[in-house]
Amino acid sequence: ITPDDSLVHALRRVADRHPDRPFLAYFDGRLTYREVDELSDSVAGHLAARGLERGERVAVLLQNSPHFVLAVLGAWKAGAVVVPVNPMYKSGEVTHVLRDGEVAALICSDRAWESYLRETAADSPVRIVLTGCELDFQTRGDARVLTFERLPQAGDADDLVAIARGGHKAPDGRDPGPSDIALISYTSGTSGTPKGATNTHGNIMYNAERQRTGLALPEAPVYFAMAPLFHITGMVAQFAACLDSAGLLVLAYRFEAGVVLDAFAEHGPHYTVGPSTAFMALAAHPEVRREHFASFVNISSGGAPLPPALVEKFRAGFGPYIRNGYGLTECTAPCAAVPPGLEAPVDPASGTLAVGVPGPETVVRIVDDLGEEVPFGEQGEIVVRGPQVVPGYWRRPDATAETFPDGELRTGDIGFMDAEGWLYVVDRKKDMINASGFKVWPREVEDVLYTHPAVREAAVVGVPDGYRGETVKAYISLRPGAEADPDALAAYCRERLAAYKYPRQVEVLPDLPKTASGKILRRELRSRANDG
Ligand code: ATP
Repeated sequence: ITPDDSLVHALRRVADRHPDRPFLAYFDGRLTYREVDELSDSVAGHLAARGLERGERVAVLLQNSPHFVLAVLGAWKAGAVVVPVNPMYKSGEVTHVLRDGEVAALICSDRAWESYLRETAADSPVRIVLTGCELDFQTRGDARVLTFERLPQAGDADDLVAIARGGHKAPDGRDPGPSDIALISYTSGTSGTPKGATNTHGNIMYNAERQRTGLALPEAPVYFAMAPLFHITGMVAQFAACLDSAGLLVLAYRFEAGVVLDAFAEHGPHYTVGPSTAFMALAAHPEVRREHFASFVNISSGGAPLPPALVEKFRAGFGPYIRNGYGLTECTAPCAAVPPGLEAPVDPASGTLAVGVPGPETVVRIVDDLGEEVPFGEQGEIVVRGPQVVPGYWRRPDATAETFPDGELRTGDIGFMDAEGWLYVVDRKKDMINASGFKVWPREVEDVLYTHPAVREAAVVGVPDGYRGETVKAYISLRPGAEADPDALAAYCRERLAAYKYPRQVEVLPDLPKTASGKILRRELRSRANDG
């Protein structure tokens, strides 16, 4: 495998070979590779003309839209580092990223600029602002790519779309190379203050290339961007992999199950990837049909635990087998995945579904507290070395030394490896529940809850208990129309789990809190349990 040297080079290569091939589909608009190349050149030319220097940071706070793609490619062509920011972030979270990343330019939607970012950015190093009017899915009937009216109130920022159309020339000599930082990806903070992982162009192209060669998709494949592009999974497994395959990337603003199913029917995608919660939402949608999935060659789940019961329900109900994949922002999305043609085994002792096998050139080891490798089947911390592991955290030498001793990534996840080389993720080290001295891993209890027909989402946390130290509590959301009594759900688990593992408390909520990338926020549920 010889990864392309950068995402900019990959774009130029495809635009050269297949200029008129469609690259982006967004509701009823299309852009070809040549158009994206020219429009992003123009964004780069403008940024350079406004004084953006090589290596400076450009924050992009946009949903899955052509605007996002033009913004990141334009920033890279100007030699800048992109800081993707979750558009759901609140002002304080954005402030942290703008200051910590020492961000020079901000590209966001008119609406966000107007409603809070103008004020937020005033107190930050940002000196260049570009805004564009992204489409909200409710108004999709009227959409035309790159012809959106600007909101008049956003007049004090430059118009991204006008700039893209301005025909500016990209600056010379700014193209990034493989070891240049492409992204500072702030971790979503499920474990504390967000730190910026520095994903290089080489890190991203390595994983994109591996995906292109591993998935056996047809020529000019159609990718559906279900995961957000501002999250590393969406950036790598959708955007970069699609670009590397000269494919069509279907964008649909943000995840909304009905819109996603419409887009499946309209575009017939071959591949998509999302967190397991997205598949739960699709499976629970009243209009979902088997036919929606007829065109798929592969479907992957990544970034969050995949309950085996969901894989089986999905296959029985709709046909596709959901392929598990494991990764972190710090290893630029996947470092292990289920190879096409194979199915992940379930560990007979614990009922855990394997996350996959490590990719080529990737070494995954399981180590004990002293850093010594443990035998097959034994649990320990998962550590990863490979071409997708980032060089470190942005301006955090202490955290870098701690998480990447000698360049190897300490994931903070507990797992084990079987004799055939399948990797299993037990849970996050910090999520372990200590009930009367017994270890309880929330994911194992959640897997059992997911086998219950009424359960849509499940999250298990430890709550303080005067007698046991901690006790197991389950939060549940139900499938549409389903009813379930909390006591009956606790009894259901009691029949299937050791006495110290089953949830003593079960609470039903309309929805469980999630990150924008679809991960259930156990941390928020823990504080809810503590407050209550
Ligand atoms: P933070 O690092 O701040 O907690 P985060 O959880 O969003 O933020 P990510 O890099 O997005 O960070 O997520 C990586 C984590 O997701 C892994 O460490 C692991 O716990 C979990 N994960 C990813 N893929 C899988 C999988 N297939 N099965 C189980 N867990 C997974």
